[in-house]
Amino acid sequence: SRETILSNKPEAKDDDQSLRPQHMREMVGQRAVFERLEIAVDASRKRNEPLGHILLDGPPGLGKTTFATVIPRDLGVSLQIASGAALAAPKDIIPYLTNAEEGSVLFIDEIHRLPKSVEEFLYPAMEDFRIDIALGEGVNARTINMTLRHFTLIGATTRTGLLSAPMRDRFQMREHLDFYSVEELTEIVRRNARKLNVDVTDDGAEEIAGRSRGTPRLANNRLRWVRDYATSKADGRVNRDLACAALDMQGIDNQGLDPQDRRYLETIISIYGGGPVGVEAIAHTINTAPDTLIDDVEPYLLRRGLVIRSPRGRRVTQATYDHLGIQPPEPPSP
Ligand code: ADP
Repeated sequence: SRETILSNKPEAKDDDQSLRPQHMREMVGQRAVFERLEIAVDASRKRNEPLGHILLDGPPGLGKTTFATVIPRDLGVSLQIASGAALAAPKDIIPYLTNAEEGSVLFIDEIHRLPKSVEEFLYPAMEDFRIDIALGEGVNARTINMTLRHFTLIGATTRTGLLSAPMRDRFQMREHLDFYSVEELTEIVRRNARKLNVDVTDDGAEEIAGRSRGTPRLANNRLRWVRDYATSKADGRVNRDLACAALDMQGIDNQGLDPQDRRYLETIISIYGGGPVGVEAIAHTINTAPDTLIDDVEPYLLRRGLVIRSPRGRRVTQATYDHLGIQPPEPPSP
């Protein structure tokens, strides 16, 4: 195979590798996005032309990296992986650009973290497949213009709003990944249970899926934990009761919220009277980075209507009180 993967990323996601789909057809859910990308890939293959640049955005764990790895594999082209956070200066990205083969994919994860200097250096590379390299200093300074092979940039970000407009505009396709339905996650859990050789009943798979915050990565993590629990505490078979017991033990409740989610909601209620309160204040109170709350915690809670974002800050809803079993404060008497 022509496939090579070069990566400057710490292998933090290594755990995911064995369960990551290898081809587009193995991916579950995201049908609208999937079909548009499939058409682009198919056309690129038929015309034997490089695919246009693609921007993927959405909360962590929803399949951005997976799309970026299955697309080049299905196209039979090489893939290079870089992380925006690790590309501090233009010189850091030059090797990726000059190594890129014709039609190959360069995946930049966390592309919103590219410094402006690198972003601007990328513009002519993306548009005209050329770069200007500055050599020397002072009176000896000169720039050489270098032509690149036609590559495809796939960028991933948790929030498109973090990307500058000129950067955003240079992607031919922009796709937003949304949370998965319980049915889709149940299918992912079933398939991965087979890969991990664990015997899961239908209701067991559904329970794990229902407690996975709409996120395949979490479904995989929860499945692995339930499997350990089943091996240690029972005969290895996973049904609904066993899945509940295992996930309860991790503090994952029947809606899939974890202790951090509940701490966030309880803080808004007990410290800030239910809100509205700014995210920085909440982050400060629970000793977390605001970005963690914005990227990892809030998107799912917003989706579930357990928190509302307004110009004056975050506030909880009746559903939040119901879920946590907390009595809402009496409305002030007229
Ligand atoms: P992101 O890059 O958006 O943070 P990943 O692509 O790394 O998310 O997805 C995390 C894991 O979730 C993958 O390793 C894979 O096992 C699983 N996964 C993601 N999307 C899908 C999908 N559509 N179908 C099946 N599994 C998926």
